[in-house]
Amino acid sequence: MAQDRPESAGPETADQGDLVRLTASGLVLLAQRDAAVLREGASPYPPVLQRVLNRLTLESWNAGRLPPQDMTDLVRWCRKPLKEWPFPLPGGLVAEDEPLVTEAGPTQLCLSLALSAGNPELELVQNRLMGEAVRRCREQSLQAAYEALRRLCVREPILDARRWAKVQRTAVLEPVMDLVAQFYLPVPSALQVHGVFAACKSCCGLMAPRSRGGWICALDQCRLGGTWRRVGTRYAADKPLWMLRTALRLYTHGPGLAETQLEDALRMPGVVDVLMWPGVDLVDLLVVFADGTCWAIDVKDHANPDLLAEGLHRFPRGEPLPPYRRAIVAVPQYRIDRAQGYLERVRSLRPRAEYGFEVLSVEDVVRQAARLASRVSRSSHA
Ligand SMILES: [Zn+2]
Repeated sequence: MAQDRPESAGPETADQGDLVRLTASGLVLLAQRDAAVLREGASPYPPVLQRVLNRLTLESWNAGRLPPQDMTDLVRWCRKPLKEWPFPLPGGLVAEDEPLVTEAGPTQLCLSLALSAGNPELELVQNRLMGEAVRRCREQSLQAAYEALRRLCVREPILDARRWAKVQRTAVLEPVMDLVAQFYLPVPSALQVHGVFAACKSCCGLMAPRSRGGWICALDQCRLGGTWRRVGTRYAADKPLWMLRTALRLYTHGPGLAETQLEDALRMPGVVDVLMWPGVDLVDLLVVFADGTCWAIDVKDHANPDLLAEGLHRFPRGEPLPPYRRAIVAVPQYRIDRAQGYLERVRSLRPRAEYGFEVLSVEDVVRQAARLASRVSRSSHA
């Protein structure tokens, strides 16, 4: 419950919040370092992570605690739930049960924290790549190209040579093809096990090798849903293979899956259309019922309700969006199940009276849509 969360206790915890964000930022950078960096003999550890280690060492001595022994120890430490962090945390993170990393890599919580710390790699992806895609598609009214680009990230986080050739011949993607080429990077050879790369059976993303053998998927949805060890397609490591950049995988692929799953659930009798990312991403979905009623929905797949609320603003209205009756922020059920009082916390930070949107679970959105859809299809047949 929101009221159970201890209040932030002043400048010390604000400073710790900064330290947690810096740690997250360093861990995301660490995950980006591939075999090529290591071959060139550079330190595998980003300087920001070294600064975090120095600060933690100092603060541990001051607090009379044992500091992390080295970088490996620090990374091991970050695999524990954040609530076990041995220093005061800012209010919104005190009860956080998620770790910053798992053996498969950074979690979406880590990514959200790194984004709010101004991580340069994430900003590159967000501003230069996704930002450019949005700008160009809005300026040139390329809704179909934008939708195709987003669906590509959701459906095909891995491309082999045959699929890549097919993507290059996809006419609708032509105006953004230069960006598509930058969305994907060659798969680092470090991710192979005995000459094989593996894709996750449930999300199709590339899996990371486990130290004990086999593979594991980094996506929260697969980890929390218990499907993160199920292997789908295997690819020979001696053939060319490309994968979505790590940041795009967490930022576009994971949330995109939740958005398209909701789209599928909403395509029901009584619903005449579900528009995806209308107005080039002004909202995630627009549902149009048979009587002309519209709902605007944003799907938000965040580990932490406070970090989710930080990024929520009033929904846009007016052209090119049609008038809509309800504005809804929809949260996947597996997020709500993990943290007690999740929806209540978001509602308290972003009250409907002030912000104009409702905060519901994805399941409730589908249930309420089914009720309205059945009512309007009954009355149209009466
Ligand atoms: Zn997966």
